[in-house]
Amino acid sequence: MPVYRARTMPVVTVHRDTLLNSKLSSISRLLYAVLLASVDDDDVTMKDVAALVGVQDIGELRPYLDELIEAGVVEYADHHGQERVVTVHQLPLLPEQRSHVCVPCEECGDCSCGYLKGLCRTCDGICRVEASAEQDIARWKQQLEGGATYAIGQHAARLHRWDCPTLNSPEKSMAQLAAARPHARNGGFYWPRLPYLFTAEELRQKNSKKRRCAICGPDPL
Ligand SMILES: [Zn+2]
Ligand SMILES: [Zn+2]
Ligand SMILES: [Zn+2]
Repeated sequence: MPVYRARTMPVVTVHRDTLLNSKLSSISRLLYAVLLASVDDDDVTMKDVAALVGVQDIGELRPYLDELIEAGVVEYADHHGQERVVTVHQLPLLPEQRSHVCVPCEECGDCSCGYLKGLCRTCDGICRVEASAEQDIARWKQQLEGGATYAIGQHAARLHRWDCPTLNSPEKSMAQLAAARPHARNGGFYWPRLPYLFTAEELRQKNSKKRRCAICGPDPL
């Protein structure tokens, strides 16, 4: 039984001793609160954060971030394949917790900290597409072995032989998948589905009146 969070509250909780820490500069105490408030809000950029705490640009935040790193509420780390990432903690980390190390993806080596640690979003997507490709090929082969030698094209306009050159085949789809792999990060990675195959009997029962493809010339029903 899944449990959903009803809604996020428009409040943020800060650590009292950090906010009242007189050793921190007033800007870094404000920065701590502003960073916590802007976590998960894609509309607030680091540039906005800089403006909100009253400094000119992101570069000028550095000494204040350093104060917060020292206080254990901010970490500033390189993540594989990404720009530097600021992590803010509500509660100060204990000294032994402070070395945040990036967890690279086991597949591609890029940072996976923002997703499943050890598997990045892109590689997880690739795994899913590959699994659906495998299933689709198995389904297609099973239909073919069961005597389904007719196919109806994508736009359902024509009746084809299963091996018509205008249809997707496991080989063609696998080649397209391999060619799309470098673009997986941009979302261009998907499985070109194989046609659904039918037996002559199934088509007769459906009373199919589709025109036969002139390229592959399937046997009349
Ligand atoms: Zn990382
Ligand atoms: Zn990966
Ligand atoms: Zn055809």
